[in-house]
Amino acid sequence: MSLQERLFAELNDAAHFDKIYQHAYNYYSTAHTKNAYPSEQEYVKLKHFDEELSNEGTGMETITKSLLEYGQPLMVNSLGGRYFGFVNGGMLPAGIASRILSDFWDQNAALQVMSPLVSKLELQVEKWLCNLFDLPKDSAAGFVSGTTSAIFCGLAAARWRILHRLGWDVSVRGLNGSPTIKIICSDESHAAVFRALSLLGLGNEEVTKIPTDDQGRVIAEEVPPLDDKTILILQAGNVNTGSFDPFAEILASAKRNNAWIHIDGAFGLWAKASSKFNHLTKGMELANSYSVDGHKTLNTPYDNGIVLCTDREAILEALNFSGSYLQYGEIRDGMKYTTEMSRRNRIVELWACLKSLGLNGIGELVELLHERAVLFSVKLATLGYEIINDVEFNQVLVKLDTKEKTLNALSYIQKSEICWCGPTVFKGQTGIRISVCSWTTTTKDIELSSEVFAKAMNAN
Ligand SMILES: *Cc1c(COP(=O)(O)O)cnc(C)c1O
Repeated sequence: MSLQERLFAELNDAAHFDKIYQHAYNYYSTAHTKNAYPSEQEYVKLKHFDEELSNEGTGMETITKSLLEYGQPLMVNSLGGRYFGFVNGGMLPAGIASRILSDFWDQNAALQVMSPLVSKLELQVEKWLCNLFDLPKDSAAGFVSGTTSAIFCGLAAARWRILHRLGWDVSVRGLNGSPTIKIICSDESHAAVFRALSLLGLGNEEVTKIPTDDQGRVIAEEVPPLDDKTILILQAGNVNTGSFDPFAEILASAKRNNAWIHIDGAFGLWAKASSKFNHLTKGMELANSYSVDGHKTLNTPYDNGIVLCTDREAILEALNFSGSYLQYGEIRDGMKYTTEMSRRNRIVELWACLKSLGLNGIGELVELLHERAVLFSVKLATLGYEIINDVEFNQVLVKLDTKEKTLNALSYIQKSEICWCGPTVFKGQTGIRISVCSWTTTTKDIELSSEVFAKAMNAN
């Protein structure tokens, strides 16, 4: 059989595809009842993947079997209700359902001629997001892999605009000999901000860091003087505490002084959708660019990040890409708003998740995560954990009276497999960091997890 004959035979094996679908659906639909973390014994299964690449190739049956038998038992169950690590987020039914379709379509999201549907959905979602976040109607959105990439794109636009105003085209001339851009951020800015700054040649050591309060919020009075050569980077949702910088107190004057303001709101920006939480984002509409994830609070499948920029020309110029063979369309060419050319069609899932929830549903999801986080913090406080942060959003930071006890408790919790969270150091305090960010987390999950935390205290 030739390779092509074999591949057509696999394509026509409908029974196999049905079987895969059944397995996948069973996994997804029962994940919320399962433990958060795989057991250590399962790690031996990874040995299965130590093999040379064969000369003759492998049939689809065998490949699927490998994944199901040796791969799936090692899944970190961030879809479940008791996974509180990082800020990982669950996955909405409409998100995975639309992804299954769009994975089969395998569209390249670079250009409209490659996928008119993708272009249309990107354009539509751009409008929805401008409306949701109260941005000028002609603001641009780029659909990228995550917030890290979104911050990079937003700051690239900032760099282009500031230097352009000074008569310097950074896209052509680069940074050698260019005027200096001043960078001001929070001393609690996410590591992804520093990564973007260093990739953009804007350094790291030179950055001025604004001191923050005990919740990790920038202290408004401490913001240094701003001018039109400055990029100011603020945060909606601190990774440790979930706190928001006081935008209303800072942005109006920053704007008057013509500084470029970027807001990193990876998971926090969605607070805007809830009337109970939009006081946290108040004033943020005045910024120039934003980074936010679909795959965290919104619970889209991975990977799904968004850059928003009120200066369309700046982002287009900063990410400028041309080639004689490129054929642009009149709806939209998604690659112009990202650092990539070929891209998967992740917009389908973002569109589906937004459509599934609607504006009220996004707000309700934010409120649900908060409610569970509060319940968790109350239960842990009753047990004797110290709650380090004000539970303003979906993050809870806890500790015991010594670092050693905290880390011992965490080790017990992680080994329990029942629930999972990670360590952090916030303002010199070693803590256990809990992020409630899956729509599946029930009060029962919080109870079960609190029982683990109770036992963990005695592990000392
Ligand atoms: C998660 C996070 C990032 C990084 O986002 P990715 O989607 O993982 O690239 C940046 N900033 C904040 C505040 C975050 O929470």
